[in-house]
Amino acid sequence: MEKNPLHTDIQFLPGVGPKRAALFRNELDISTVGDLIKIYPFRYIDRSSIIPISSAAPDMAYIQIKARVTEINLIGAKGSIAPEDVRYNTVKRMSVLVSDGTGYMEMVFFKGIKWMHSKLKAGDEYIFFGKPSIFNGRLNMVHPEVDPAAGQQASGSMMENTMTGVYPSTEKLRNGGITGKVMSRLMENALKTALPAIEEILPLELLQEKGLVPIHFALRNIHFPKDTDSLEKARYRLKFEELFYLQLSLLKQKYVRSRNENGIMMPKIGDAFNICYSNLPFKLTGAQKRVITEIRNDMKSGHQMNRLLQGDVGSGKTMVAVLTALIAAGNGYQTCIMAPTEVLALQHFRNLTRYLQDTGVKPALLTGSSRTAERREIHQGLEDGSIGIIVGTHALFEDNVIFKKLGLVIIDEQHRFGVEQRARLWRKSAGGTVPHVLVMTATPIPRTLAMTLYGDLDVSVIDELPPGRQPVQTIAATESRRTAMFNFLKEQIRLGRQVFIVYPLIFESEKTDYKNLETGYEQIVTAFPFPPYKTAIVHGKQSNEEKKFNMDAFAAGRADILVATSVIEVGVDVPNASVMVIESAERFGLSQLHQLRGRVGRGSEKSYCILMTGNRLSKESRHRIELMCATENGFELAEEDMKMRGPGNLEGTRQSGLPVDLKIASLARDGLILNEARRCAQALLEKDPTLSQPSHRLLAEEISKDKYRMEDYSRIS
Ligand code: ADP
Ligand code: MG
Repeated sequence: MEKNPLHTDIQFLPGVGPKRAALFRNELDISTVGDLIKIYPFRYIDRSSIIPISSAAPDMAYIQIKARVTEINLIGAKGSIAPEDVRYNTVKRMSVLVSDGTGYMEMVFFKGIKWMHSKLKAGDEYIFFGKPSIFNGRLNMVHPEVDPAAGQQASGSMMENTMTGVYPSTEKLRNGGITGKVMSRLMENALKTALPAIEEILPLELLQEKGLVPIHFALRNIHFPKDTDSLEKARYRLKFEELFYLQLSLLKQKYVRSRNENGIMMPKIGDAFNICYSNLPFKLTGAQKRVITEIRNDMKSGHQMNRLLQGDVGSGKTMVAVLTALIAAGNGYQTCIMAPTEVLALQHFRNLTRYLQDTGVKPALLTGSSRTAERREIHQGLEDGSIGIIVGTHALFEDNVIFKKLGLVIIDEQHRFGVEQRARLWRKSAGGTVPHVLVMTATPIPRTLAMTLYGDLDVSVIDELPPGRQPVQTIAATESRRTAMFNFLKEQIRLGRQVFIVYPLIFESEKTDYKNLETGYEQIVTAFPFPPYKTAIVHGKQSNEEKKFNMDAFAAGRADILVATSVIEVGVDVPNASVMVIESAERFGLSQLHQLRGRVGRGSEKSYCILMTGNRLSKESRHRIELMCATENGFELAEEDMKMRGPGNLEGTRQSGLPVDLKIASLARDGLILNEARRCAQALLEKDPTLSQPSHRLLAEEISKDKYRMEDYSRIS
């Protein structure tokens, strides 16, 4: 079989060799020609324009000047070195003064001096390309690219196009001689090698319908654009294709599952649901009702439910979870509710116990700290079916936990569980049936991200808060306001409210002056002495008992202040808490700040979130703090967060991060292309669900690649 040129090791490309190949591998994770051509420029420079030195300024991006060398100086530890004394290993710097008649500029080299020295001649004219900066009041360029101004002969190279791509690079690559220019030359070689082996994967019909340029055109022009129009077309095609493959693979998985008939049929609503429903002290919101209908339709469809329930903190997801579990119970099935922490599991259990009164369904709680006797009893109850709903933590994964008839798994704040752990739950279902799965997350995820991360799940959104909630007033303050802030807290405590104070770090880091929990705690107990003030503390280094003891004290109102690290971020519900103080708030991401703020404003009292920050904030931190003060809408904040930090860093994304490493499309910016790609993927699957038509053969091959393999919630492994 002939070797596929895409798999050629880049060390065999002219100008690479084993040393540079190793650099590429380590620095950019590139080992083959196929990898290399997928490194796209992140910027382009118009090489056709040469500017006069007199109009160059240090704040400009890359510029090109055409100038004559007037003076070359080699400088060692003791100053200038006379040309006759030069030993290159003692030269620290080479300074080259150039002029184009409008002004002078200094070109500075710290590395590769010997080579550059041999190349440059005083009196000759060159093209210098680089980033201008200012040093000692003088305009300069450090390590510009240099070409002789004359004698550049047309060679038919793609590199003669006027726009030149700028590729991602690292210091090690640059030191290894892989300059922008070298990179372009390599890319040209790589393309020549690779293009003949690259087939058009997208069906002709789709190319025509969407006006997409062919793949060869796209690759050539993304690296060496003929003009801006060609570049735009190339870019669109590559972004579209990237998102299209991803959506196609996700939708195909979803499609396969929806055709699979082994979902547990739960046709009834059941008495338990109705009893609980009529006992509710409030009316469900419209959004809650809509979501319950969506869930109910899944459960009676005969297909397995795989649904993501998104809803802002306090939107009433727990209520939905309880009612869903009661539908399962009404059909004779057990439910398992997985919580990420003991605190949360306990809280769920308490709520459950309240809601399940009169329903005849028995709840239980199983966590790491359940005692042996209790544990044995619960195992028994699960096995004989007397326990209808079990809430728990990782303890539920243990092998001796067996269900009589597990029909529903509800995973709260799912991102804290690994795939393997979830798969173990499935195995507990007797009779080999696959339980319905409801994943709940309180972390709003931007729509584009949800479509990508959870494209294989159905998504329900609770986009409405229960009535009567007062908005949380958010205030930013600096250290100078601390006394006033403390007085405000005292006032709130006097009114019978409780206060959270959250710190970003546990131990003082010498490098930062961020408030940390321990010194913070001391400051708080000094400012709020006992009696009358009672302060509890919770952090990640405590044992579970300690944590629980302190949380309980706060939840039960025995403490006025809870000092904590962000462990309280997830789900904790203390309606009487009316103030959330976040220390060093600039240290937190937007989603995290939003989660923390969601801990207050759960009762009927007016609530406050106070963001304490340092005096000097980066532009980005300031922006975050301002946004927090401006909106309480979690989805809006999540969109902004994604724009600022990129999708990979968002809270609430799958543990493994993005399923595919996107090379060119951006979930933050290419929402419209994503919609289009998804729509086209959907349409294609409707026509050819198994991708078995001949014109879809390459597509089917593409999306069967490993990189598209998603964690599958329904997979029993
Ligand atoms: P989430 O889990 O989405 O953060 P919860 O389910 O914990 O929200 O609900 C927050 C609070 O709102 C709880 O105290 C709950 O009893 C209450 N609640 C839920 N649904 C409603 C509703 N429809 N009307 C009034 N209060 C509600
Ligand atoms: Mg909750």
